Amino acid sequence: MEAGFLDKLNSEIVLRDYVPPEPGDDEVTIEQKYTGVCFRDILTQQGFFPRVSLPVIPGHEIGGVVTKKGKNVKAFHIGDRVSSLIYIPCGKCEFCRSGNENLCPNKIAYGEGINGGYSRYVNANERSLVKVPDNVPDEAVPIAACVIAMLYHAIAKVGKIKKGDYVLITGAGGGVGVHAVQMVKALGGHPIAETSSKWKEEKLYKLGAEYIVSSNSDYNKDVKKITGTGADIVLEDVGIATFSKSLRSLKTGGRLVVIGNLKPEPVELPLGLIILKGNSIKGSISSTREDLKKALDLSKSSILPVIGEKIKLSEINNGYKDMLDKKIFGRLLIKY
Ligand SMILES: [Zn+2]
Ligand SMILES: [Zn+2]
Repeated sequence: MEAGFLDKLNSEIVLRDYVPPEPGDDEVTIEQKYTGVCFRDILTQQGFFPRVSLPVIPGHEIGGVVTKKGKNVKAFHIGDRVSSLIYIPCGKCEFCRSGNENLCPNKIAYGEGINGGYSRYVNANERSLVKVPDNVPDEAVPIAACVIAMLYHAIAKVGKIKKGDYVLITGAGGGVGVHAVQMVKALGGHPIAETSSKWKEEKLYKLGAEYIVSSNSDYNKDVKKITGTGADIVLEDVGIATFSKSLRSLKTGGRLVVIGNLKPEPVELPLGLIILKGNSIKGSISSTREDLKKALDLSKSSILPVIGEKIKLSEINNGYKDMLDKKIFGRLLIKY
């Protein structure tokens, strides 16, 4: 069996023969049908995440069927279908103990600090796992934590969406954005999709986007026209290219939730504007096991179908290139 390896930063993923070790005492071995490919994988390759122990098998979007288990694992059994958080929480710190393990300062990220999903068989710690209910499609299992649960956390818990809220989603045609459009709709909001790719517009309408604005225009003015007063929430998934217009799209008292930063560069912050309009800017990181359970529940119904394209593991370097060239609509999945 072959797995994909990142041997050095800024180098291509290399395929090599790989036999996963026996699972540790607190681990299970999972056989995956799919694993998700995330823009974070590209940022990891480019060296933007500090805690990467090379060489590593990248990929943090993991799920599948348990084939082996360590001697301390009680909650999961061989044959169970499981979905994993994108990290292993420490289980001991104040955040882990209060159910906010997404903020755990000691967490270890799959595909960075420990081997991840670019391998059909992957060992995962039971602290990162939840059982997958029946009727969740296999494609949704690996992306539930990083995409669906992360969005639930950002839009419902951090953004505090209410029925009827207008939510501007930047980078709406990407792997996160398409599912954000669906999630806003599922939670009773009006999605306004921002995209730079004309060819994605019709697809976004089909997914449930009620309005589309283009990054090539002063879309903050368009958002004001659509809503009358401005967006209740902006889900900022791009970063420096959209941040200024996103902030100016908010209504008085509106919330900007930052979930993505494609080009890690600092943005300008007009403090006067934020004070005058009483806006809040909050970061939202990842998801908790509770969010993951909620996401898997939502994935049972057809309101949140997985939108994406499938490749073989051997095509991963081209897959990265297509993501960087904005040629992928939705999520990229590796099919084993
Ligand atoms: Zn991800
Ligand atoms: Zn912790």
